[in-house]
Order: sequence, then C-alpha cells, then structure tokens
Amino acid sequence: MRLDIQHIRELFPILHQEVNGKPLVYLDNAATTQKPKQVIDALVNYYELDNSNIHRGAHTLADRATRYYENTRTSIKAFVNALETEEIIFTKGTTESINLVAATFGRKFIGKGDEIIISTLEHHSNIVPWQLLCEEKGAVLKVIPINDEGEIIFEAFEKLLTEKTKLVSVVHVSNALGTINPVKAIIESAHKAGAKVLLDGAQSSSHFKVDVQELNCDFFAFSAHKIYGPTGMGVLYGKRELLEAIPPFQGGGEMIKEVTFEKTTFNDIPFKFEAGTPNIADVIAFDKALTFVNELGKENILMHEDTLLEYATDKLSTIKGFIPIGTAKEKVSVLSFLINGMHPFDVGMMLDAAGIAVRTGHHCTQPLMNRLNIEGTVRASFSVYNTMEEIDRLYDSIRKIAKLKNK
Ligand code: PMP
Repeated sequence: MRLDIQHIRELFPILHQEVNGKPLVYLDNAATTQKPKQVIDALVNYYELDNSNIHRGAHTLADRATRYYENTRTSIKAFVNALETEEIIFTKGTTESINLVAATFGRKFIGKGDEIIISTLEHHSNIVPWQLLCEEKGAVLKVIPINDEGEIIFEAFEKLLTEKTKLVSVVHVSNALGTINPVKAIIESAHKAGAKVLLDGAQSSSHFKVDVQELNCDFFAFSAHKIYGPTGMGVLYGKRELLEAIPPFQGGGEMIKEVTFEKTTFNDIPFKFEAGTPNIADVIAFDKALTFVNELGKENILMHEDTLLEYATDKLSTIKGFIPIGTAKEKVSVLSFLINGMHPFDVGMMLDAAGIAVRTGHHCTQPLMNRLNIEGTVRASFSVYNTMEEIDRLYDSIRKIAKLKNK
C-alpha cells in the first residue's frame, strides 16, 4: 500500500517549523524519530487523568494506570512476536537492556577464559558493557571483522566460534552505515556452538518486522524513541527459561516477593527485572507509537524508506566529491557519506544553516570508524514522514557545499 505521506506529516507537530529561516528537513531519524501527536497527547493525558503508581494501588486511578502500562507489554509481545508477555522487560532503552544482560547473564554464565563475540559494526553500547564484564571476569572479547562495504565477514565469524564462546552479541542493523546483518545465520551458527545470542535491535525494530521466535534469538534489545515513541523507555526481550535462570538486575521495590533481613525472594519475570517505580507515562505513550506503526504497516513504511534511500543514493552519487560510506547490499534507510576535502562537522553545520538536520561524527561507533580509516561521516537517515522533495533539498545543499572544494 502506498502511504499518504502528507497526511502522516500532519500528525507530527515538530516538522512544521522553520530552522534558520528555512522549513525544517529532519534527516536524523537514526538518532531519534519524531513523535506523532497521539504519543504526545498520551503523555499529557496520563498526567492529567491517570497519574498514579502501578501494580499495588487499590484505587481506580492505579488500576487504570496499571492496565494501560501492561497493555503496552501486550502490544510489544505482538510487535516482536514473543511467545509470552512475561518475556518483555521494560528498561530505559537499548543501552540499559544490554547492560542488564551483561550484569545478569554475564554475572551467572560468563567465567574466566570464556569468550564473547561482537562485531566491528557495534555501537559503543554493545561494546563497553562487554569490555567491563570481560575485565571483571577474565573473559575474552572477540570481534568479527567486516569488508570495505561494511558487511560482516561470515566465514571469519564462524572461525571465531569455539566451545568457550558463551555469547554472541551483534547489532541487527548498523546505525552508522545501515548494514543489515545476516542475523539468522549468525544465530544458527552460534547456537550450534552452544552460545546464546543477543541482538541489538535499536535500528532494526523501527524499519522492518522483527520476529524473535522466527529468528530464535535469546535476547533482543531496542528503544522506544527510535520507533516514534518517547525517550527513556526501552525493551529487553528474553526467552523465558533464560530470564528465569539469571539473577535480578537491580534490587528494590516491585522486584521482590518477600523481604526479611535474612533472605529475600524475588518476584516472577518480568517484574524480577523491574525494580522501583518504572517510567509509567512513557511506557503508556509508547503503545500509541506502536498503534501508529501497525496501522501504517511496517512493510509499507519500509517500502517508502527504501524508495527514499534509493532516490537519495542515486541522486547524491552524481555530485562531484560525494563519497558514500557503507555500501552493503542489504541496508536500511541510512546514507552515510563524506565530501571530498571537507570535515563532516563543517558539512553538518552548513546543512543546519539550510534547515537540514543530519548527524555528523563517529555515531558512537569509534572502532568502526577506525576500521574504515575515517574520523566520522555525515549521516542522513530517513523515516516514514520524509519526502522526495526533502531529498531534493538535501541534494541542492550538498551540491553547493561540495562545489566549495570540488571544482
Ligand atoms: N545500538 C544502536 C545500533 C543504536 O543506534 C543506539 C542508539 N543510537 C543504541 C544502541 C543505544 O540506544 P539508546 O541510546 O536508546 O540506549
């Protein structure tokens, strides 16, 4: 189905403004997407009508807030096709979800000499928690190499797997280059070697249908704010038997069954991992973002984003001095590039002056930038509300900017 993009844009109040005297073109969607009115209204409605603490209240507001909060869990279960709602844990975001696995699975199952495999494409949030864990446990961190196009070298990955590999933690879609990793094959090989697999789904979950049962991943982490939802809210999916086998993350209220000074028993999953008063409003509002995505249809969103990516890649490639970074065969709507002779930061500043928001720098993937022998890139990333006309604006500005150094 072809989407009515102009109608969709009407739902996003933030898009209708001028920046530096020009209509805003927002192309920083891989960093965070904008929020439709339904999500913003849900936040206001919650605080105006329903605000109360959840799960233990014996009054109507608490009951209502609890129901809305748990409704989101049910929606997320469907969104990633988990088997049970208990397998959906609320966190602050992808970063916290990964740290949760490092602190719990890592504490219990990773020991001296054990190995963890990540890839060259990782975001810092899927590198640093494992470095901290390896340092603490005397474990070894191994890294899957990539080719110059920004794709994982699968044969090299298979060679890294040993009987000591306990966990493979890889990004599903690269935020810096847009590469889609062959995660199904990675999961199959890792499982054959006896290792568990965590997928960093921060970028994939917004672009295409994720089916955790079909993928057969053990953990899947993502953030609401990249799927038109609020910041400060994320998800960790985990298989029931694993979530039950690993210790709690943080201690406090909600995550207990019974506390005495001698001994505490823990609540069942998912509450075992949700200590303290959670981010109730943002969880409730995220449900509206999921409804927005479901109503449009992920396959329709993807089709529109792919069209934008192809159009932008073809058009910008005609500019003298334009150097695409990351040319994987399988990729989503991220266009990373350099302009010959110019620092990415300067390009970003000039685009901003033209009302165009992109991201510049290392995109929290410094080791990847080192591998590519660059300091950073300019990254334009597209979303459902972006248009061909906006790509034309990007093209016109880049053409002018590139001319300064590429006569
Ligand atoms: N992994 C990837 C691939 C990302 O793009 C991001 C966000 N840039 C993260 C992890 C971290 O997500 P968050 O900051 O929402 O925790």
